[in-house]
Amino acid sequence: MPETALYPGSFDPITNGHADIIFRAAKLFDRVVIAVGRNSQKSPLFSVEERVQLLQETCRPLPNTIIEPFDGMLVDFARRNGARVIIKGLRAVSDFEYEFQMAMANKHLAPDVETLFLMASAEHLYLSSSIVKEIGRLGGDLSALVPAHVARALQEKFAGLPDEPRSERLP
Ligand code: ADP
Repeated sequence: MPETALYPGSFDPITNGHADIIFRAAKLFDRVVIAVGRNSQKSPLFSVEERVQLLQETCRPLPNTIIEPFDGMLVDFARRNGARVIIKGLRAVSDFEYEFQMAMANKHLAPDVETLFLMASAEHLYLSSSIVKEIGRLGGDLSALVPAHVARALQEKFAGLPDEPRSERLP
């Protein structure tokens, strides 16, 4: 039976850290469904359609990946997609507590679905969508942090937004 894995996140926007996990997962599983959370409480910068499109562009070389918006219960979405595995990327220790809780809750709800953690690569340990948006807002160099088309989308997004107070925290 082909093995499907689900990789959920908000991907607002996709970073090189997410892309690294996707490319690695695509080698391990027959099929990887990337689940783009629709109801993020984080009031996303990019709409779900934009986030899906940016992911599609990144995943073009990977024919065994598919990108789907989702809301509701993750384990239900996993079952509907025939996925027995949920993939999570683990960065610095700060991710651990929350991810551990989520994995426990999902195990309780669906004992047949396993959460599998892939360690972030060393160069992406401190990379997050939030940091990328902050750098984009400040007009910094994004070339080592996100795929080129995502850097362009961020530039366009911030060019179209009214000026916000500049953060003091980053150069
Ligand atoms: P973020 O935390 O950047 O807002 P998401 O909610 O979209 O990202 O995260 C989706 C998944 O990707 C989570 O499992 C998260 O731990 C993982 N992830 C995020 N950034 C990285 C990274 N730099 N390296 C590895 N995994 C990551």
